[in-house]
Order: sequence, then structure tokens, then C-alpha cells
Amino acid sequence: MAAISNSLPLKHGLSLWCPQSSALHRPNPSSSLLTFRTFRRCYAAFANDNREYVIVGGGNAAGYAARTFVEHGLADGRLCIVTKEAYAPYERPALTKAYLFPQDKKPARLPGFHTCVGSGGERQTPEWYKEKGIEMLYEDPVKSIDIEQQTLTTNSGKLLKYGSLIIATGATASRFPEKIGGNLPGVHYIRDVADADSLVSSLEKARKVVVVGGGYIGMEVAAAAVGWQLDTTIIFPEDHLLQRLFTPSLARRYEELYQKNGVKILKGSSIKSLEAGSNGHVASVKLGDGSTIEADTVVIGIGAKPAVGPFERVGLNTEVGGIQVDGLFRTSVPGIFAIGDVAAFPLKIYNRIARVEHVDHARRSAQHCVKALLSAQTHTYDYLPYFYSRVFEYEGSPRKVWWQFFGDNVGETVEVGNFDPKIATFWIESGKLKGVLLESGSPEEFQLLPTLARSQPVVDKAKLQKASSVEEALDIVKASL
Ligand SMILES: Cc1cc2nc3c(=O)[nH]c(=O)nc-3n(C[C@H](O)[C@H](O)[C@H](O)COP(=O)(O)OP(=O)(O)OC[C@H]3O[C@@H](n4cnc5c(N)ncnc54)[C@H](O)[C@@H]3O)c2cc1C
Repeated sequence: MAAISNSLPLKHGLSLWCPQSSALHRPNPSSSLLTFRTFRRCYAAFANDNREYVIVGGGNAAGYAARTFVEHGLADGRLCIVTKEAYAPYERPALTKAYLFPQDKKPARLPGFHTCVGSGGERQTPEWYKEKGIEMLYEDPVKSIDIEQQTLTTNSGKLLKYGSLIIATGATASRFPEKIGGNLPGVHYIRDVADADSLVSSLEKARKVVVVGGGYIGMEVAAAAVGWQLDTTIIFPEDHLLQRLFTPSLARRYEELYQKNGVKILKGSSIKSLEAGSNGHVASVKLGDGSTIEADTVVIGIGAKPAVGPFERVGLNTEVGGIQVDGLFRTSVPGIFAIGDVAAFPLKIYNRIARVEHVDHARRSAQHCVKALLSAQTHTYDYLPYFYSRVFEYEGSPRKVWWQFFGDNVGETVEVGNFDPKIATFWIESGKLKGVLLESGSPEEFQLLPTLARSQPVVDKAKLQKASSVEEALDIVKASL
């Protein structure tokens, strides 16, 4: 049974399983009540020592995992979350969106965006965790693991014995080296609330902002700086914005929109160094071609690395990085799982191993992993890649932008629409629709995208090319389902 093979009782010392029984894994209310009382007695005896389920990392995936434990009636007194941050899990994408709105445009602040509000669930504030009997260890990162002893050691020296362990450590922002000014005051990286707070306090007094990186973080931060009416330049080495996904033509539409909003765009540019002024604060950005741009605030958005930190021994993937797992999020070590940004998992639909640094995968992988751990669910994860971004959404913005993409951006493309405000791009390979991006769609149109990308219908490319509107193009591909 999956429940037995997925989870391990504590191997050393006294087990938390009192009595040890696979029934503990099943969401059977009557048996849960019985074992819960017994467990509470054990728990009291081994407080701060043994834990039945431990999640390391308190981000998006951890929040959704906690909710799934609660739904199975297996959180109370059994689940512990150990996190580096001072906050209960929150919807991280907000940090470069509503969190960066200027003060007069109602910026988002905690507790407004704790998980799982992002998917329409209950808002999981610190009180929610208390009420549900989930132990939260804040600001105490795990620094080492002993796989044999099934123990974790935290920065403060706590030794935590676990029955089953879920690694949900996410990713860390890539940084510029210190020797080229990567740590100067006024240089920002955004991964957590503390980073976003520090950026907001810089934006409050900034005049000239340089954003390094043309990915979604760079695009979102540059759009936010426009909301603060700051002189903003975005610099990146590629030929166009969001090179990983956008076609050159699609990127051109967004670039024009940014330029209309006053953002200067420097493409194909490398950074030589970030230079300090006489006060030690960043004052300019030196480019590879020798030119210099004045800046009092620099935001670096050049990607992220999986936070494998203390868990390298659990088994890393050499191609995509991160911790290798199977379709049930099991690592090669029995009883240890990995989810979210840090997991390298089989992307079944395209038959490859992938790491996906997006919130939709964080949510779904957490739910899938915990269900497999706690119940007899054995079907493997079958994820359809989904990315989105929203920019220029503050009050008074002349043009709000919201795009969604589903599927794989492979093959030839057909673009329909004039970006006023709608546009759609279809990726077609061997006659089949593989991916679709839609800007400013209606809720019904956005809802159609995953069906299209998953079904991969054969489409009439010539007919699609002749479509005179996004609506007509969507009707054509819908008819081929
Ligand atoms: C600014 C920003 C904007 C984003 N915008 C979008 C977007 O618009 N759309 C989208 O799809 N995705 C977006 N993402 C990506 C999305 O937020 C991530 O994919 C998602 O948060 C991943 O969830 P996770 O739980 O795996 O990692 P995280 O949410 O990063 O959580 C990991 C947690 O683990 C903690 N941690 C790390 N190491 C340890 C340790 N050793 N011990 C204890 N705790 C540890 C971290 O501090 C963190 O709290 C954005 C990300 C960022 C940073």
C-alpha cells in the first residue's frame, strides 16, 4: 500500500507511532481521534525532539501542504514546519506585484496574502496554524540532516527527529558577486518579504532605478517603479524581454508598452560592475561597452537557484538541478519527499525531467505529495506547465496587463490580435497545438487554455493565420478539439 511504502516510522529512539500503525496515515476520522489522543501523550513526552511529519521551508508549497494535512485530519499535533522566514507561508508572487504599489495606491501587506488566498482557500495566518495544531518554528533554518538518524539540526541548535520529511526550500535569488558591487547598499534582490520591504524603503527615496534582467521579475519590478513615477531603466543581455517564453514579435508589443510608460530598455547589454558613490551607496551601473548609467536603486532579477542547501545527500539532479523525485515526489531516500521549486520531477506530458519555478506547480505538487503520503493515492503527478504575470495593475494605471501561458513553447508560432488590448500566440509543432499565450482574455477564454494545451489538437495553421481577431482564433482552435 502506498501509505506504508511512502512514509517511514522513526527509526531510532522511541517512535512517535504509539501504537505504530498504517491507520495513522488514513483519513479515517474515528481512528484519527483514537491515535490523536495517544499521540498527544507521546508528543508531550518527546516535545522538541520527535516529530511525525516535518516540512522544511515555509513558502508557497509548505502552505498548500499544510492545508492538505488539515484536510486529511492529520495536522493537529503531528505536523511541524521549520522555516527561515519570520512569517507564516504567503503567496510569494505578490512581492513584485501589489506589494510594490506606492503607499497611496493601497499596497498589499501581510496578513492580506497568506496562503491559500491565492487559490480561493482560507487565509492561513499564524493563528490558523495555531488553531490547527501545527507547530511552526520561525526564523530557524535547517542547516544539516542526518539521514540514518532521521534528524535535522537547525541554526539555533534544535535537533528534530522526523518520521516523514518534506523538503520545500524553494529557490534563492542569484546574486552578483561582491567584487563587482553585488552587495552594495541600494542593490536589491527579491525573494522574500524582508527583501521586498527593503526595496520599498529604497523606492520611497529613489530617483533613478535600474532593473537588471528582462525576465518576469525584471518586468514586474520595472512596471512597479513606473507606479512610483521613477526614472526607470531595464537592462538585459538577451535580444528581447522574457526570451525564455515570448516570441520576438510578442516581446516587441510589451517593450513598446514599457517605453510608452517611460521605461528605457537596454537590450543585449551586459553589466561590468555596480559602482558606489562617495557615501558607499550604489551610484551607477557600468556596462560591458564602457558606458555608465546613474542609479540610486538597482534591482537584480537574473534568476534563481534551487535551495538544496543541507539536502545535497538526498540526491540531486545534474541536468536541471534541484532534488530528484519520482511522480509521487519521493526522493531516493525512503520517507523523504521534495516539492515546489526545489523538486526535479518527471514532467509526464513531455516525457522529461523538469524543475518548475512557478506558483501553480508549488501548489499542485504540495497537494499531490501530501495526498500520496497520507492516503492510498498512487497515481503519478501529471503537470501541465502554466505561467502568468500581471503588471501595471495599480489604481490609475492606463493599461493593466495580465497574460497566461499553458503548455510548451515549441515549434512555429502564429500570433493573432493587435495588443489593443488582446493578443494570442499559438505554438504549433508537427501540426499540433503545443502551447498558447493569451493577453487580456476573458475568464471563459483563459479557462479554455489548459484544455487546449493538454489536448494538443491538430490545428489548421493557414486558417488560424487568417483569423481577424483573438476571439475568432480561439473559436478555430476550440473547434479542432
Ligand atoms: C518575487 C517573486 C515573484 C514571483 N511571481 C510569480 C508569478 O507571477 N507567477 C508564478 O507562477 N510564480 C511566481 N514566482 C515563483 C513562485 O513564487 C515560486 O514558484 C513559489 O513560491 C515556489 O514555492 P516553494 O514553496 O517551492 O518555494 P518558496 O515559496 O520560495 O518557499 C521556500 C521557503 O523555504 C525557506 N527555506 C529555504 N531554505 C531553508 C532551510 N534550510 N530551512 C528552513 N527554511 C528554508 C525559504 O526562506 C522560504 O520561506 C515568483 C517568485 C518570486 C520570488
